[in-house]
Amino acid sequence: MSIVSLAAETIFAPATPPGKSALAVIRVSGIQAAAALEAIAGRLPEPRVTALRTLRHPTTKQPIDQALVLYFKAPATETGEDIAEFQIHGGRAVMTAMLEALGTIPGCRMAEPGEFARRAFHNGKMDLTAIEGLADLIDSETEGQRAQALTQASGALDKLYDKWRKEMVEAQALVEAAIDFADEGDVATDAVTRAGAITNTLVACIGDHVANAHRGEILRSGFKVVIVGPPNAGKSTLLNALARREAAIVSDEPGTTRDVVEVRLDLAGIPVLVSDTAGIRETESAVEREGIRRTLQRMAEADLIIMLQESNLHRIPASMVKSVWSNIDRTKVLEFESKCDLKKASTSLKRLPISALKGTTMAYLVSQIADRAKAALGSDDAVLAPTQARHRAHLNQAAEHLKVFLKGSKDDLELRAEDLRLAATELGRLTGKIDPEEVLGAIFGRFCIGK
Ligand code: GDP
Repeated sequence: MSIVSLAAETIFAPATPPGKSALAVIRVSGIQAAAALEAIAGRLPEPRVTALRTLRHPTTKQPIDQALVLYFKAPATETGEDIAEFQIHGGRAVMTAMLEALGTIPGCRMAEPGEFARRAFHNGKMDLTAIEGLADLIDSETEGQRAQALTQASGALDKLYDKWRKEMVEAQALVEAAIDFADEGDVATDAVTRAGAITNTLVACIGDHVANAHRGEILRSGFKVVIVGPPNAGKSTLLNALARREAAIVSDEPGTTRDVVEVRLDLAGIPVLVSDTAGIRETESAVEREGIRRTLQRMAEADLIIMLQESNLHRIPASMVKSVWSNIDRTKVLEFESKCDLKKASTSLKRLPISALKGTTMAYLVSQIADRAKAALGSDDAVLAPTQARHRAHLNQAAEHLKVFLKGSKDDLELRAEDLRLAATELGRLTGKIDPEEVLGAIFGRFCIGK
């Protein structure tokens, strides 16, 4: 992995989004990067020093733009290859002319999506978790997401998983030593005991880390809030009030929100995903029943449930109360008496009066969501948590192998060494250090061209 591979083809792509802007950047990576820069901008600048140049078409010599150019020499570059960068003016015609000009240079072609990141990975510049972190960093919308993605992109998860993998390899080496020194009773027993101690600690550490996964996922995908209640209770109006825009259709006709409508909020840097759901009532309509089924599923997956009911009028039918609340952890439910502006006083102490239309209790609701999201997220170390289902699957699998090792008998050392090897392989797959091909497509496919 540390050997820099020299891909035959040099790739280029815009590193900035399409459209008009003051500046746009084109990156070129590969053995022809310096040649491409010379062909278009003339003399090669000092590495890492910007130079102002007139860019010309390599064959017609027609001027294309005046731009800052940069050259980075391999291997200390983002992709591990030579890189040239053109900071051109961000007009469509300038970009088109530059891409056309680069295309005429032998050995140069337009990059495919994720190809820059893929080269960085192949040249050992980044492991898979760091690359996933980079994709998340580009996608991040809130402060919390940015911080978590940056930690991951900087290789924090890779470091941790690599440390664990090395400990597994060490435990495996100890067991193999015990096999080799089987005749020297004490030495062998001691080695196996030490391997057992390492493995025990690893199982505990991996368990704690995976238990944090939910916190990592909240940061990445959002704290999930669902608004539920019978039709017409004011759910869509509440969602709109939270989003301060018309995200869901508000209507007087019961049963309008048949599917789930979502909005993303940024509450104190934490992404919050609020969804409005189909109203819960007895119904003959198959479509509406499917909507209600989805509502119940959303409730089960939610981090917080906001239950709206209008006193006397729109309530969840008694016949459905049981199916709605079975399996729901009541501590994650906030119940409100909606449209309180229409009534004199609340009829129930259990439910707080709220009016999405007049704004009553809205500040309290928002602070409750933010407080609960923060509590679910815990302290800052949530950023060092597995952020993807892929991470969790490999970690759990590794822990399983370790547990099998711990349960094994002292007469089965060879099989048990294999359990440790399998556990280490699992972590190797996680960071991409072992036969990663199968996961590469899925990961790099998330990038667009030029990343
Ligand atoms: P949903 O079916 O639960 O999504 O209910 P909607 O949000 O569509 O609201 C049903 C009706 O109640 C609409 O006419 C809303 O304008 C009205 N409504 C919603 N919230 C309030 C409120 O806080 N006060 C009053 N007076 N009317 C409301």
